Amino acid sequence: TGDGEGPLARVMQTPQVEPEDDVTQFAEYRRLKSTMRQMQLTGVPNPYFTVHDCVVGDKTIVDGKSLISFASYNYLGLSGHPEVSKAAADAITKYGTSVSASRLVSGEKPIHGELERKIAKWVGVDNSITMVGGHSTNETTIGHLVGPGDLILHDALSHNSIVQGALLSGAKRRPFPHNDYEALDKMLTALRGQYRRTLIIIEGVYSMDGDFADVPKFVEVKKRHRAMLMVDEAHSFGTMGATGHGIAEHFGFDARDVDIWMGTLSKSASSCGGYIAGSEALVELLRYTAPGFVFSVGMPPGQVAAAIASLEVLEREPERVERLRHNSELFLNLSREAGLDTGDSGGTPVVPVITGNSLVALRLSNRLKKDGINVQPILYPAVDESAARLRFFITSEHSEEQIRFTVERTAHHYNDLCDTPAKLRGTA
Ligand code: PMP
Repeated sequence: TGDGEGPLARVMQTPQVEPEDDVTQFAEYRRLKSTMRQMQLTGVPNPYFTVHDCVVGDKTIVDGKSLISFASYNYLGLSGHPEVSKAAADAITKYGTSVSASRLVSGEKPIHGELERKIAKWVGVDNSITMVGGHSTNETTIGHLVGPGDLILHDALSHNSIVQGALLSGAKRRPFPHNDYEALDKMLTALRGQYRRTLIIIEGVYSMDGDFADVPKFVEVKKRHRAMLMVDEAHSFGTMGATGHGIAEHFGFDARDVDIWMGTLSKSASSCGGYIAGSEALVELLRYTAPGFVFSVGMPPGQVAAAIASLEVLEREPERVERLRHNSELFLNLSREAGLDTGDSGGTPVVPVITGNSLVALRLSNRLKKDGINVQPILYPAVDESAARLRFFITSEHSEEQIRFTVERTAHHYNDLCDTPAKLRGTA
């Protein structure tokens, strides 16, 4: 080989990139620091990583001060419920704090199967499998069930864990317009024939807007095109339907019409972890092959027992779901009457108050805190600037008085902040 043709010459000709080995110089890190500086310039305290020194339900304690809380997913007030806490403590005494291995090898306890049978029954399908995190349940399941040569069509407002799972899978990924089953139908007509498996993914309740899809229409579409339908019930499990059985109960359709039900145990079930519920075959396949299950530890005993106990309390006290619905509708109706923009929220426990401006959202949240109300702002770049908002999570434990006071204060400060644009430039 003459000069300029050998392996060394080929390496020399390859364009060289600047090595990066210092995180402080990463573009992502510099962007983060710049965003934080901008936030500091507003004079409003950083709203993230607030320390809550108690169980967070309708109330919380921050810096020693009691606040009405609208910032936790403790929708049914079961985290902190004495029966749930005792069940977790008893399970820890009996089985320890960790199962110390993947369940496939030696981490299996009797309560794992008990919880999974209970979830399957709750959802209305054959069986279920639980994993240690909700986010990782989506990632590993979606990432594993489809791959190159397959197609994923997901709602444009899908949660990050769905998008991450789709990216991991290597399948072709196309979002469809939010809740638009007709657009989905058209995409399937155009694309279905080119792919082996097609997975459609939607959510039971959307956590940014508190709205939900016409799921029976999605079932119709998926059947017509022989696609699989997955529904993430993170925010609808325990909250939707007359007794909290989820979006299938809300619409009154057979849960077996959905191929893959996913949910988290960190919200209504006051624990931690995720589940996939569906056919025996689906669960069996995941139990033996899903990387995030096979190569990860089983759910810890305390968390398993807490989820079982939460479902037991809920079976006995379905009125919690009724109270949650009553509170959610009250909050929504009062907000609308007060002229606040609650977007498409549909009587679910998630009610956004859209400010359309990050600074207004930040200041509004800070003013409410001074009034004794804890609510998280959602700012750009988490959402478009025009969609900046406060996001209220309602619980069954809020009182009518807390809700009326909160809506009145929110409307008061919002109007004040927006009335005079000059006020935006001063400190709130
Ligand atoms: N799916 C959705 C729709 C979610 O909103 C979330 C988290 N809020 C998850 C999955 C992940 O659940 P977890 O926080 O329990 O990991």
